[in-house]
Amino acid sequence: MNLEDSFRHKGLRQRLVNDIERKGITDKKVLEAIGKVPRHLFMDSSFVNMAYKDQAFPIGEGQTISQPYTVAVQTSLLKITPEDKVLEIGTGSGYQAAVLSEMGAAVYSIERQSRLYSKTSRLLKSIGYKNVKMFLGDGYEGLPEFAPFDKIIVTAAVDEVPSALLLQLKTNGLMVIPLGERSQTMTRIRRLSEEDFEQETFGQFAFVPMLKGIAK
Ligand code: SAH
Repeated sequence: MNLEDSFRHKGLRQRLVNDIERKGITDKKVLEAIGKVPRHLFMDSSFVNMAYKDQAFPIGEGQTISQPYTVAVQTSLLKITPEDKVLEIGTGSGYQAAVLSEMGAAVYSIERQSRLYSKTSRLLKSIGYKNVKMFLGDGYEGLPEFAPFDKIIVTAAVDEVPSALLLQLKTNGLMVIPLGERSQTMTRIRRLSEEDFEQETFGQFAFVPMLKGIAK
């Protein structure tokens, strides 16, 4: 595996950071983390020229690496601190998990596609993201054995918030989830108490659908 992160990559990455800052991302810690994660390593090496464009991109198995702007929006909405234990649904390329990890969070990430799971586990290990734990499983169920979580991020589209995930959120915890069928409304849920939740919305986005069960 070629893990080179050259001056050219770093230069392109700084331009990407400026780009998403211009699009309205103000959280300095999020911009800093995006400036650190070598996104080109999370895509096939023949697409290195696409890695630092603000675009989603296919990563195989019919899946995509999220657009950097979308990663920045979701990460900003989560208000990450280094004390946070974060559950991610949809590891995919591992890029979003790496951004959360750069911000100091302990990341627990679930992927349902076994091939993506194996490929991304190897990649995150070899780059050295030690505070990301990956699980092959169905995100609809969350990770009850590691709950509760301070933050939950869902990176695939769902119509309704999976109830298992609501139960695994700490009181005062935040969940960021794209809700809707054709296009998704970015939604942030705060758990106010055992039974009470508050919901805010933040514009339209496009995600691949969240699917049930594990795929071989
Ligand atoms: N966070 C990813 C974005 C990946 S796209 C990144 O930074 O690259 C969404 C991912 O969610 C896909 O890899 C897809 O396989 C996965 N997914 C879909 N339904 C799921 C489920 N029920 N449980 C876990 N992962 C799921």
